[in-house]
Amino acid sequence: MENINILINKSRIEKRLDEMAKEIEKDYEGKDIVFLGILKGSMPFMWELAKRIKNNVIFEFIEVSSYEGTESTKKITMHKDIKNSIQGKDVIIIEDIVDTGRTLSFLSEHLKEKKPNSLKIATLLSKPSRRIIELNVDYIGFKIEDKFVVGYGLDYNQDFRNLPYIGYIE
Ligand code: 5GP
Repeated sequence: MENINILINKSRIEKRLDEMAKEIEKDYEGKDIVFLGILKGSMPFMWELAKRIKNNVIFEFIEVSSYEGTESTKKITMHKDIKNSIQGKDVIIIEDIVDTGRTLSFLSEHLKEKKPNSLKIATLLSKPSRRIIELNVDYIGFKIEDKFVVGYGLDYNQDFRNLPYIGYIE
């Protein structure tokens, strides 16, 4: 078993999620929101954020992958598209981490074609120093340095997703 160090502990994550939820409530007053989670990593973040929000939140999922092990590959593969229409809806893409920006720029273009009323992005983590494609991320939990992180949905070869904190492998 790899040695995992804690980067962001559970109580810091929870405090930040409270703040992000308030911000989203303020921006979407009186509106239903579609949370479009990117499988699988966004799941804990999506649920923990949604349960803090008073608006009605509709869950949709999309599955893409751009990673093999710890190295980013250039190709983005879509494994599962959304089933229900998002036309005219207020959509927030829910991501675990923004790294190069490739996944989200690909997905934003794909989703804009489905004509939502609005499309924003919320991510638990962002690694600004790794960005290759500039994109506007509306809600960011934590900006982190260039470390490979696991936990809170994030995996290393499918392991560690259920850790209740964000850690990095030594
Ligand atoms: P991007 O397209 O922005 O380069 O990459 C986004 C995807 O890469 C994330 O959804 C995530 O699956 C993966 N990724 C990027 N950095 C990390 C990391 O530090 N840890 C893990 N587990 N996945 C990462």
